[in-house]
Amino acid sequence: MGGATTDLKLIDEKGLRIDGRRPDELRPLKIEAGVLKRADGSAYVEWGENKVLAAVYGPRECHPRHMQNPTRAIVQCNYNMASFSVSDRKRPGPDRRSQEISKILSEALEHVVLTHLFPRTSIDVYIEVLQANAGTRCAGLTAASVALADAGIPMRDLIASCAAGKVADTIVLDLRNEEDNFGSADVPLGLVPRTGEIVLLQMDGDLSVEEFKTALSMSTDACHRIYAIQKEALRKKYCVAPAVIPAEVANAIHDVATEKPQGSDVPPNEMPGNLKEGVQ
Ligand code: ADP
Repeated sequence: MGGATTDLKLIDEKGLRIDGRRPDELRPLKIEAGVLKRADGSAYVEWGENKVLAAVYGPRECHPRHMQNPTRAIVQCNYNMASFSVSDRKRPGPDRRSQEISKILSEALEHVVLTHLFPRTSIDVYIEVLQANAGTRCAGLTAASVALADAGIPMRDLIASCAAGKVADTIVLDLRNEEDNFGSADVPLGLVPRTGEIVLLQMDGDLSVEEFKTALSMSTDACHRIYAIQKEALRKKYCVAPAVIPAEVANAIHDVATEKPQGSDVPPNEMPGNLKEGVQ
């Protein structure tokens, strides 16, 4: 970020980016809740070329004991990038970057989890980056909060996260690798959408105050869109979807159900509620 130069045209004559996106456009985002059987909660996020799994265990007794807090739970996040997640094989195991990301994500998640309900325990969140293309801390945080909700852990809200930055003098949303490497700023944001609280904000590179405000407003707006996708993923897993019945079949069922059977005292039936709701 900030120093490297490239022959790549990061913004073309039409104002579009190298992958054809408009400056304020997110990469395609898919979220699935509850993908792992043995974790207490989990989520899988595909965000552009990023593929990230989050798994939650706990609340469980905190070990080692000296880390226990008698008044609340601690959230221990472990961010890991797989060796095969980037084009050059990454040396396996923790490094300074993954330790830093684990720390800031733990702190962000502790703001929304009702930790006081579970004294002396630990809530462990594992974030595994299977494929990386910039924005993995945002994808990890977005996945982790869905995984916590999937684990049934009481929270004030989910956290939605997205970065904005500056590329070729243009403020852009959700930077991909080339933009991250050759752009001049990257500002990841973690937002509690219901309250507007910011629980993660970092800045790599330089922005003027006006540029910073534009970037923040762009990423805040994106976080609300991401929030809707997070909630939809949870709804998809937990709401019993009404049966979808073609309209003509539903009408036929309704006609039969409301006909008074000959010689019977049975009053005309209403169509069962779930069938009614299922009609689309
Ligand atoms: P984020 O993924 O949150 O944007 P960074 O800005 O530190 O975090 O990294 C940007 C991208 O650079 C990563 O998503 C990944 O594609 C790439 N990257 C990070 N660390 C390494 C590494 N050790 N080896 C190769 N590529 C890396």
